Amino acid sequence: MWKESWLGWAWSTLPDKTADWMTLLVIVIAAFFLARRLVWSEARTGTSWKDFVVIVVAVLPFLTGYFLAHGTLDKVAFLGDNLRLIHVLSGEAMILMAVFLFCVTRMIPTRCTGCAACELSCPTGTLESTDKGTLRVFNYSHYQCICCAACVNTCPENAAELRHDISPRGFFQVFSKQEIRSAEMMPCQKCGALFVPERLFTKIHKAFTDEYLHLCPNCRQINVVDVNRRMAPWIKKPGAPTQSTK
Ligand code: SF4
Ligand code: SF4
Repeated sequence: MWKESWLGWAWSTLPDKTADWMTLLVIVIAAFFLARRLVWSEARTGTSWKDFVVIVVAVLPFLTGYFLAHGTLDKVAFLGDNLRLIHVLSGEAMILMAVFLFCVTRMIPTRCTGCAACELSCPTGTLESTDKGTLRVFNYSHYQCICCAACVNTCPENAAELRHDISPRGFFQVFSKQEIRSAEMMPCQKCGALFVPERLFTKIHKAFTDEYLHLCPNCRQINVVDVNRRMAPWIKKPGAPTQSTK
């Protein structure tokens, strides 16, 4: 188009052989990522149809371009006549996808204990949790996330992930934060205050069985004072009458 315009100038092009090898490399890499999602159970966990769409839409312009340049599908019904159109449309689809493609943080519910270590390590403050009712709720905004992976590296459960996500709705969620995870909280056995996510408690309780684990930090302090008092009865109880000295 540049060359046909009044400028009469064009970008220099890569030699055909180099372009071919680069195209084949992209196709092989895409095939690897597709196979990885289909075969490797670790990658398959949590894979959604969007992950496949991202790979297919990204590779389609290269695949159709390669077939078009080499006439591979020229004799195939429909494709032979329409491959040029498909190639152009796939390029458009890839550009459109780039507009709605975001790098987002995910917390895998089957692994996440709700400990909030990821929140503490997040340098932009986009990941934040609040305790609401019986739940600890994690909120997040993909526009604020810089995809630094600090949360991924901090997570002790390997539950935080960075993923690509196509989201036309997410494109418009500029100012609001979205809920990405909620964890059930456990009450203190003494005062009933919700103080620890249930899954985190279960995990800690496997290693430590101390009765204090069932108490919130506040009741633990009160309890420790009681224990001290039993061991040292001369410590004055609050509200106890003071001994009068005559
Ligand atoms: S650090 Fe990991 S386990 Fe803890 S809340 Fe974040 S994602 Fe969940
Ligand atoms: S990738 Fe970085 S900025 Fe994004 S949520 Fe994780 S720690 Fe925060």
